[in-house]
Amino acid sequence: EKQQGVALVIGVTGIVGNSLVEILPLSDTPGGPWKIYGVARRPKPDWSPDTPVEYIQCDVLDRKLTLEKISPLKDVTHLFWVVWVSRETEEQNCEDNGRMLSNVLDALLPNAENLQHICLQTGAKHYLGPFDAVARNRYFQPHEAPYHEELPRLPVPNFYYTLEDIVFEAAKKKDGLTWSIHRPSFIFGFSPWSLMNILGTLCVYAAICKHEGLPFKYPGNRITWEQFVDISDAELIAEQEIWAATYPHAKNQAFNCSNGDVLKWKRLWGIIAEKFDLEPLPYKGEGFSLAEAMKDKGPVWDALVRENKLHPTKIEEVGNWWFADFTLNLPQETVHSMNKSKEYGFFGFRNTETSLGQWIDKMKASNVVP
Ligand code: NDP
Repeated sequence: EKQQGVALVIGVTGIVGNSLVEILPLSDTPGGPWKIYGVARRPKPDWSPDTPVEYIQCDVLDRKLTLEKISPLKDVTHLFWVVWVSRETEEQNCEDNGRMLSNVLDALLPNAENLQHICLQTGAKHYLGPFDAVARNRYFQPHEAPYHEELPRLPVPNFYYTLEDIVFEAAKKKDGLTWSIHRPSFIFGFSPWSLMNILGTLCVYAAICKHEGLPFKYPGNRITWEQFVDISDAELIAEQEIWAATYPHAKNQAFNCSNGDVLKWKRLWGIIAEKFDLEPLPYKGEGFSLAEAMKDKGPVWDALVRENKLHPTKIEEVGNWWFADFTLNLPQETVHSMNKSKEYGFFGFRNTETSLGQWIDKMKASNVVP
């Protein structure tokens, strides 16, 4: 069988990286059969999908190492950027995330002669503003939802803008090189190593509540409890990225990527509670910080891992408390328009309630949560 696409997935063990390497090798995936290179810093974990990936351990912030490990991959045709590092300030985020992408492109552009397309994954913070600006109580006016792709950039530093600009420059340097930008909302997917896994984090919280007999209280505000939000299934994002990478009319565009339905955390809370045999308490307006409430629960999680023979993880890896506090205490409704994506020809969608159940089942079946 003739090989067509050669994918380089930077962030291969992340929440979308994982889904990309599940889907790319399937026989009916557009652009296939794909050869896959996957990059992350840590060694390949045993929960990685059992698909043929040439796994490369490399810190792409390290320029020398990146040139050494990525330059030899001369057959790469498509770059999938599903990685980020988190820093104290957004200026530092711009600096380090920008350097990572520049390092990889400097290794690829002169060597990968058939490089055709870059899929850059960013997200909702394109419209909402970066974490530190949202936390500092908005010294700018964020956009009003539903967000659409043509809204102007916000007047604050944002590493998403830095990455976009680097991609635009790269495309100018190489004839025929195209790009697509993918802006998911909060992602439901599978990765015990993700920096922002809202569902995994809430499952760990639920498991701890169950184990300790604590009430499963909602740590958010009334806005997220009662207003509409949208979610992005990691497989759907992977499908949209592969579609844009291979479909001629989707080139050089930015696309939102959410499931296509809206829901309320009020409702999702009940489904999560049910999965962990907990009582879903009605929200009474008293939010609290999950980071604060969970700060001493490391030994509890260790005991849960031992007693249930779970895949060994540290609570810091699977409980992204700061991210749950951010997600569930947003100052405004967050919904993305999927019109542009549909108008260009991507009709993928997910039923968020079904998606939520499936990812929880997957986490349980993979022994990441009890
Ligand atoms: P994850 O945090 O889930 O995964 C990151 C991956 O990158 C891991 O495989 C990690 O493995 C690897 N990695 C991290 N640093 C490096 C490095 N220096 N060199 C090589 N590999 C590295 O990523 P996401 O999918 O969440 O993030 C991708 C983009 O999506 C980001 O811009 C993010 O802001 C955005 N986004 C994410 C959302 C979410 O809910 N998760 C929501 C909306 C947007 P290792 O640590 O072993 O290196």
